[in-house]
Amino acid sequence: MELGALVCTARTPRCADCPLVDGCAWQRAGKPAYTGPAKPVQRFSGTDRQVRGLLLDVLRGTDEPVDKTLLDRAWPSAGQREACLDSLLSDGLVEQTADGRFALPGEH
Ligand code: SF4
Repeated sequence: MELGALVCTARTPRCADCPLVDGCAWQRAGKPAYTGPAKPVQRFSGTDRQVRGLLLDVLRGTDEPVDKTLLDRAWPSAGQREACLDSLLSDGLVEQTADGRFALPGEH
């Protein structure tokens, strides 16, 4: 059983279904509210996730494979853009055509 993923989740632990309920320190302590530091919110702006999305947006916006120059306009930082394009190719989310252009899988 994936206890942490299915039963003892941070937001809504299913204690009634938990095999550890009799030994649970949180239960014994009376289920106190969390008083630790706030969980940091992951920024989106400038992340590889954003750049990958922008590159995919370019490809979604056309029915034809696109030249690399069109992808180059999607994000100003060449190093990050190239790394993201490489990762999209590695993940199989983007394909390169025989003539060097780029497309979504199966769309060329
Ligand atoms: S009883 Fe304890 S370990 Fe089990 S789900 Fe609840 S909080 Fe988690």
